[in-house]
Amino acid sequence: MSLRDSNRMDKKDQNYFLNREESPFESMPKDKEDLAQAFRRSHPPVRASSGSTEDSREGIKESSKGGEFGKRDRQNLQKILQSNSIFKRILIAQAFAILCLTVLVSFVFYSNFGIKRQCEKMARQILDLQEAYNGLILQNTGEEVVGTESVEMTDGTDKSTKGRKTAASGEKSDVRYVYLTFDDGPSSKTEKILDILDRYGVKATFFVCGKKAYEGEYKRIVEEGHSIGMHSFSHSYGKLYASLDSFQTDLHKLQNYIYDLTGVWTTYYRFPGGSSNTTSKVNMQELKDYLGREHITYFDWNVYGGDGVSSDVIVRNVTANITRYDECMILFHDANDKESTVEALPRIIEYIQSLDNTVIVPITDKTEPVQHHK
Ligand SMILES: [Zn+2]
Repeated sequence: MSLRDSNRMDKKDQNYFLNREESPFESMPKDKEDLAQAFRRSHPPVRASSGSTEDSREGIKESSKGGEFGKRDRQNLQKILQSNSIFKRILIAQAFAILCLTVLVSFVFYSNFGIKRQCEKMARQILDLQEAYNGLILQNTGEEVVGTESVEMTDGTDKSTKGRKTAASGEKSDVRYVYLTFDDGPSSKTEKILDILDRYGVKATFFVCGKKAYEGEYKRIVEEGHSIGMHSFSHSYGKLYASLDSFQTDLHKLQNYIYDLTGVWTTYYRFPGGSSNTTSKVNMQELKDYLGREHITYFDWNVYGGDGVSSDVIVRNVTANITRYDECMILFHDANDKESTVEALPRIIEYIQSLDNTVIVPITDKTEPVQHHK
């Protein structure tokens, strides 16, 4: 085809397009609505048979007029509708997958969180039971915690415990020493305990933890002449007894904390759960040896009122066992939920003060430690 023919063809084409009522590009459907209109044009509604012959013919004319164009549009429309349908399905599937994932992640998170809390709670309960068990075993069996034999001290030296026999052994010392010791504080009960001690004019020993909200209580304990000892900063058995390293870190953190608040460099320690606890992952002997190297003395107990029991039960348990020992180390709990300690304390102090040759004293450097032996 020559260039001239080509030009002529172009002109012909131009005339063809100019004579058209609308440009083929204009007639191309632009969006879904255009397609729908085109579809309607190419598919006129079927008229009722009652309609006139003229109308039917008109419909056929319109239909044939749409003819080729309508067919192409219909195909496009079908494609678009199909792709829309697939797209919607993909979207729904994605939304469903996201929903499932969210539910799954939430479930895993909350179940783990719940399990962790449950485990911590159980660990606390086990240790509480351990403390209760240790105290009750000592009381029920009459075990001689500190006897006539020499007691091996943590620093490796032997110290005689003369005059420290139990009443059950038949030999009585001249004076019975009773130590009121309070673990787990300070707490919302510390002030009340201090008020009671003040009222009866007795001094006690507080084995405290590291608590930020009770600075005033630490100071008052020391200012009023009571002894202060350590009971671990965290009181978290999992952390504290995970390794010798974690035990050391916790110990010195508390020792410094108490010193900063009160000016007292305490060397008294009470193991959470007692020195005979079976929860520690570290051999307790390793921890005892470490305390010995640090010149820190640990103290257990031989009389215990019980945990989670009424004040009447505490009074009964304590008063029934005090006279069995010439050196009586009583364990109490100073904790927010231990109102029973506050209620039992006056009656216990009155009972002790009613005993002959019996004095209530705080722990000092001269105190022979009561220590559990396995
Ligand atoms: Zn404790």
